[in-house]
Amino acid sequence: MSQIIYADCNGSHPPLQEVKEYLQKRLQGPFANPNALHGPGRNLHAALEKSRAVIANYLGAKNEQVIFTSGSTEAINSVFHGIMPYAREERRHYLVLSAVEHPAVLEAAKKYESQGFSVKIVKVNHQGIIDAEELQDLLKKIGSKVALVAIMAANNETGVLQPYEEIARLCQKFTVPFLCDTTQLIGKLPFNFEKSEIDFAVMSAHKIGGLPGSGVLLVKRPTSLDPMIQGGGQEHGHRSGTQNYLGIECMAMALHVSQEKLAKAKELEESKLRFEKIIKERFKKVTIIGEESPRLPGTTAISYQGIHGQAVQIELESHGVFVTTSSACGDNEPFTSHVLKAMHYSDDVGRGVVRVSFSNHSDFHNYEKITETLSQAYKKLSPIGHF
Ligand code: PLP
Repeated sequence: MSQIIYADCNGSHPPLQEVKEYLQKRLQGPFANPNALHGPGRNLHAALEKSRAVIANYLGAKNEQVIFTSGSTEAINSVFHGIMPYAREERRHYLVLSAVEHPAVLEAAKKYESQGFSVKIVKVNHQGIIDAEELQDLLKKIGSKVALVAIMAANNETGVLQPYEEIARLCQKFTVPFLCDTTQLIGKLPFNFEKSEIDFAVMSAHKIGGLPGSGVLLVKRPTSLDPMIQGGGQEHGHRSGTQNYLGIECMAMALHVSQEKLAKAKELEESKLRFEKIIKERFKKVTIIGEESPRLPGTTAISYQGIHGQAVQIELESHGVFVTTSSACGDNEPFTSHVLKAMHYSDDVGRGVVRVSFSNHSDFHNYEKITETLSQAYKKLSPIGHF
């Protein structure tokens, strides 16, 4: 098989070359408990704090606002868990979410819904963007009873960007805490926690070319959160458990390299738009999801109406191109994802979506190969592909 193209950077980004080289050397040691008082422990603690300072600096946060976690899912769950005492005390029983959130947010909200909280969903338009006016009207009505607003910065399936700074300002106006799922944004586009006015932001190292199993929760006022994980009091008691210091050092390295590569975002986006334009010209039945919205520079969710995404994925894979579908598959029957449903796409389009996701680190010439491979796949599948 010729060269392999991995086009699932939104799913998990392979570790960057710099991270692999760092890790290879780093595996020679030292190893110790970074919270121990002996010499090796103190040295590792210093390295951990250096990583924290690097990460805080790149994300526009203060060192004490950075809490290390195992990734975004844990960070998101920590926020839901952590605000509960305050929510109950102040009788704030609404959770406000967008319709296109990641399951980490949706399922956490569902848990508290089963414990008496009411979940309000803010709709998105056909282009995948929330209606800020609807949110404002909602907060005007029930703002004093809202425990948390959770709206993502960038959608994992479509790459559509929400106006998260405007949402943060609205939440501030109504004094409602705002959790912004920044998992897909960080490392791909500039982000500054302090300027954004967000209360809680999250990241997963493996989405930016670090290692799986490490991540960050950024908290404007860390004392405002009840810790979800109890134990030895690490992370100033905000998240107990010995820190994954190797993962954290690699995460700092990945973020450092990603910051340097942010300048590539424009070029990446131009390559993506060229690819999308050619495919649309060749195939009139193709839809680019969220095409008219601001999107992540390297994300395309594309559908050929009537052809199953899984069939396209398999065809591409046979040519060494790895993409994902957005629809999950139950009993071999593909269904339209909640994100595409919320954007009012029919099943005919929704079941057809494949996601091509690259990053600023990718070889942009990959788009040329994908253009040809996808064209061949659509040509092959179109006479037989109707549902
Ligand atoms: N939020 C978004 C938008 C994501 O894309 C993901 C991962 O796919 C997560 C949260 C959860 O990240 P992790 O699985 O690394 O905890």
